Amino acid sequence: MTTVRCNSCSEPAAALAWRCGTCGGSLDLAGLPPFDPKLIKRDDYSLWRYSAMLPVQKRFSLGEGMTPLAPVELDGEPVLAKLDYLNPTGSYKDRGASTLMNHIAGFDVSEVIDNSSGNAGASIAAYASLAGIAARIYVPTATAVESKKRLIDLFGGAIVESQQPIDDVYAAAQSITYASHAWSPWFVLGQMTVAWETWEQMGGHAPDAVATPVGHGGLFLGFYRGFRALREAGLIESMPRMIAVQSSGVDPIVQGWEQGLESPPTVSARPSVADGILVEAPARGAQILSALYETDGFALRVDNDAIKKAQRRMARKGLIIEMTSAVVAAALPQIRRRTGDDAAVVLAFTGNGLKNLA
Ligand SMILES: [Zn+2]
Repeated sequence: MTTVRCNSCSEPAAALAWRCGTCGGSLDLAGLPPFDPKLIKRDDYSLWRYSAMLPVQKRFSLGEGMTPLAPVELDGEPVLAKLDYLNPTGSYKDRGASTLMNHIAGFDVSEVIDNSSGNAGASIAAYASLAGIAARIYVPTATAVESKKRLIDLFGGAIVESQQPIDDVYAAAQSITYASHAWSPWFVLGQMTVAWETWEQMGGHAPDAVATPVGHGGLFLGFYRGFRALREAGLIESMPRMIAVQSSGVDPIVQGWEQGLESPPTVSARPSVADGILVEAPARGAQILSALYETDGFALRVDNDAIKKAQRRMARKGLIIEMTSAVVAAALPQIRRRTGDDAAVVLAFTGNGLKNLA
C-alpha cells in the first residue's frame, strides 16, 4: 500500500498535500510496488506500460513517454540522447503531469494551480484540460518566455503574471489544489519511467552516466529513483553516475556539491538563457545532492556562450532543443574529462526548441 510521508519528520500526509503540514518538508511516496519486468505491458507504447509500478489509476493519456534514445556523435564520440522533448506538449514534464493529474482526477477537485516559467505550466494545463479540471498557472513576470505563455493559454490554462512567491499565493487560496510540479511526489513518480525506458532501450542495461539539466531536479531525481528501483530489483549491478548541469546564472546545486554541503546554499540569480532552470531554491535540493554523493556523480555549470553554441551544434545534428536542454550538451567536454571517452553517457534533452522560435 503506497502512502505519502514527509522526508524530514516522517509524518504521514494527505493524498493531495504538496508539502508536510508539520515541518514544511518535501513529501515522498512510501511503499511503492517493486519494479518487476514481468509486469511491463509490452503492447503499451507509453509510460503506462509500467502501470503495475505506478500506484495511480490511468484515466486519460496522450501516449506520453517512450521517447527515442538516439545515438548522436558529439566531439567525435558517441553519446545517447534521450529525446524527452518529444513528449506530447514538448517537454519531459508530461510524464509527471500525467501521473499527477491522473491522481488528482480521482478526487473531487475542480481547479488546480501551479507556478512555472513555461514547460510545466503548459503540461499541467494540457493534462488538466483532459481531466476536465481548470488550471491557473502563475508565471514569473521577469523570466517567462512569451511563446510559452501562449502555449499555456492554448492548452486552456489561465495565466496569472506574478512576482509573488507561490507559497503566498497558496496561503491566500487554501481551497484550491496545488498541483506542484516541483513539490508533488505524484509528479516525481511519473519521472521515474524515464529510467525504466532507458534501461529497456539499452537492452536491459544502465548507462555509465546520466546528465540532466537541473532546476528543481524533477527529471534528475526521476532518473535516480528509477535506476535505484532497477538496482533494488537486481536488474542492474550498479547505479549510473548522476550528473546535474546548471547554468552559471543560477547554480545552487553546483555550489552545494563543490562545497560538499547537505543542502544547497542560498544563491542570487544572474541573467541566463536557460530559462527553464532558474531555480534559486530547489524543492528537493538535499535529495539531489545526496544522489550526487551516493552515485559518485558530479555537478557542472556552463555559461551562456557555451549554451548558445551547444544549441546550434545540436540543431546541426537534427535535434531542435531549447536553451535549457542545451546545457547538458555544453557540459559534454567537462563530462568526458571525468568519465573518460569510453563511458556510455546519456544526455537528457528536456524541452522542444520549436517553442522558442519566433
Ligand atoms: Zn515533516
